[in-house]
Amino acid sequence: MKLFEHEAKDIFRAFGMPTPPGGVAKTPEEAKKRAEEVGKPVVVKAQVLSGKRGKAGGVKFADTPDEAASIAKQILAMRINDLPVEAVLVEEKLDIQQEIYAGITIDRNERKYVVIGSAAGGMSIEELAEESPEKIIKMHIDPFLGFQAWEARNMAIAMGFEGKAINRLGSFFLKLWKIVEAHDVELTEINPLILTKDGRFLAADARLNIDDNSLFRHKDIIERIKREPSEQNERERMATENDMAYVELDGDIACICNGAGLTMATLDAVSIYGGKASTFLDLGGGADAERVEKGIEIAMMYPRVKAILINIMGGITRCDEVAKGIVAARDDRDITVPLVIRMVGTNEEEGQEILNKAGIPFLKTMEEAASKVVELVKEAA
Ligand code: GDP
Ligand code: MN
Repeated sequence: MKLFEHEAKDIFRAFGMPTPPGGVAKTPEEAKKRAEEVGKPVVVKAQVLSGKRGKAGGVKFADTPDEAASIAKQILAMRINDLPVEAVLVEEKLDIQQEIYAGITIDRNERKYVVIGSAAGGMSIEELAEESPEKIIKMHIDPFLGFQAWEARNMAIAMGFEGKAINRLGSFFLKLWKIVEAHDVELTEINPLILTKDGRFLAADARLNIDDNSLFRHKDIIERIKREPSEQNERERMATENDMAYVELDGDIACICNGAGLTMATLDAVSIYGGKASTFLDLGGGADAERVEKGIEIAMMYPRVKAILINIMGGITRCDEVAKGIVAARDDRDITVPLVIRMVGTNEEEGQEILNKAGIPFLKTMEEAASKVVELVKEAA
């Protein structure tokens, strides 16, 4: 579960980590009030679950409360990286001496948390890793000992800090670690962590992702933020309700299969033949006609979809049931894109007969089906 910046900052503050003074606003009037409370020039920031808001125009400065209101009005009307902006965060504009990067995430290869820091914060860590990887300092955390104060100070020293800054920045990293430990955090990032001209360190940005599998023991967080754990679109919600694994991608071919392995393989096959998948939809085992129809319905709701590839390996799933679901979907719903079907296994012949009668072509191998669906999409373009 991803937290909004303002939610993450609430947690930061609860652990004694300094953040700029300010608060959330859902209307321009509220933004004006927040700016009045701050009593200094402010930064107005779009609250969306996406990075790179700055580049997208979602972070702007205001010198007066009236200006804060008019900027909030602009930002609240924006969509950022395809997400609507429902709130802004209004905070004191800091006097920046230096922008720092601080983060903790899981290094799956090492099976350890890794603390990441850089004195060259501000830009994205991915860009920094390409341009000047030597400026990124990493330190793995011993899972039994945790992150120690002396290690945190060493981190600050390795990042190039001296004098009082070593303890101050070290203590920042330690607090970040406490938050990670307490909340089963998968990834946290402060970019930028700002060193002000008067020598204070403050978290100007905050990213915090909590491991979904641990949410059962973090009811307090969910209560505190008063919203659903994940921001799902209508299609994702329907898939969850129907217990289907559904992931949206940026291509145009929906792959509906049974079993995660087969679905992945089907996505690969589409890609090998030069196509791009829009949808990973795993119906699971033993899908009946109704479930197949539902899967097709969900897939069709995604506007990117230009063709559907159904690839089924009948086992406990019966091909005749699948075929009935496909025919029902075609007859009851307005399917405007080509359907390509490949089915093998249990009741394969019965299934193919149903499709034959309905005039729906099917193919024998995954390769044929993948190349066919890619061809159909290219023809239509
Ligand atoms: P992101 O683009 O989604 O990562 O949003 P950030 O919160 O990181 O804001 C983008 C940029 O705005 C930062 O890298 C800073 O350069 C700048 N910024 C954010 N907050 C402040 C602030 O309080 N004072 C100043 N001067 N700049 C800020
Ligand atoms: Mn940032």
